[in-house]
Amino acid sequence: MRALLRSPAGVELVRVATPRRLAADEVLVQVLMAGLCRTDCYVAAGQLGPAEGARILGHELAGIVVDRGADVPPELLGARVSVDPRIRCGVCPACTTGSPCGSPGFLGVDVDGGFADYVRLPAASLVRVPGELDARAVAYIEPVAATLAIVGAGIRPEERGLVVGKGRIAALAAAVLRSRGFSRIHSYDPSDPASGERPVAGTFDFAIENGVDRAGMTAIIDALRPRGRVIVKSRRIEPLEIDLLALVPKELHLVAAYYGSFSEAASLVASGTLDLHPLWAEPRPLEDFSAVFEESRRGEGRKLFFTIGAEPAALLELGPCAASSAPSR
Ligand SMILES: [Zn+2]
Ligand SMILES: [Zn+2]
Repeated sequence: MRALLRSPAGVELVRVATPRRLAADEVLVQVLMAGLCRTDCYVAAGQLGPAEGARILGHELAGIVVDRGADVPPELLGARVSVDPRIRCGVCPACTTGSPCGSPGFLGVDVDGGFADYVRLPAASLVRVPGELDARAVAYIEPVAATLAIVGAGIRPEERGLVVGKGRIAALAAAVLRSRGFSRIHSYDPSDPASGERPVAGTFDFAIENGVDRAGMTAIIDALRPRGRVIVKSRRIEPLEIDLLALVPKELHLVAAYYGSFSEAASLVASGTLDLHPLWAEPRPLEDFSAVFEESRRGEGRKLFFTIGAEPAALLELGPCAASSAPSR
């Protein structure tokens, strides 16, 4: 199969063996579409992921289950799925009691990801989606689930909220909040004076960080009322300086938001409430990867996608045996 692999030599599109041996709780997913995210760029640049050895990139996926391990229910074969990229370790005390893993790995960073024709995954990581949902929408469930974490960060719809940051990620945060009934949301990009009115100091109940720098964090602290809430959302790779002399006297709450519910994200995307199309670029073939990575390095423009596979025609007729002999590409 084709796979976009990062190794110490750089990123290349290579042919590797299709994963064949599935553990009892695993599935094989044929990838239809995949979104490119900042995390992939960090792995591609060698800033995240294995120091040595190789890793297949990609964690924002739309695909179809084409094979299953012995313990996975047969009904899952042929299901259209998105993926929660937090991969359970399977051995920690939380995993052995069926609770969410205490130290999950991340797809495309710690284990091989989905910029490939097929990806092997624990069945527990799958998010089932309606068959009619566009593949780009399915691949976009992961960013929406990440954004939904904001709503679970102890804020209320009647509160005044500030979304700080630029581009698509800040726009998605504002859209998700509005879809959840937050009507008093103001967006502001400190690096672009034309982005909107400068927030009035001390007037916001909460503010959301979307990959801001030191100046952005200062703007957040300044805009919040005493005991307001700073919601840290980005997975910025560089450490961020915070002026404690500004933060502490206001007794601000610092809350980190990672992921909300994936099934809620799937319903939200399927409902059509969010106008997502303006945030998306046209999908490109995996072969265009260098141009696509280059484009993403130029800034937070529209979301970039790779078209990877076509929907298998007679999928529902595939039994586990037929699926196991899926052609090696
Ligand atoms: Zn992502
Ligand atoms: Zn675990």
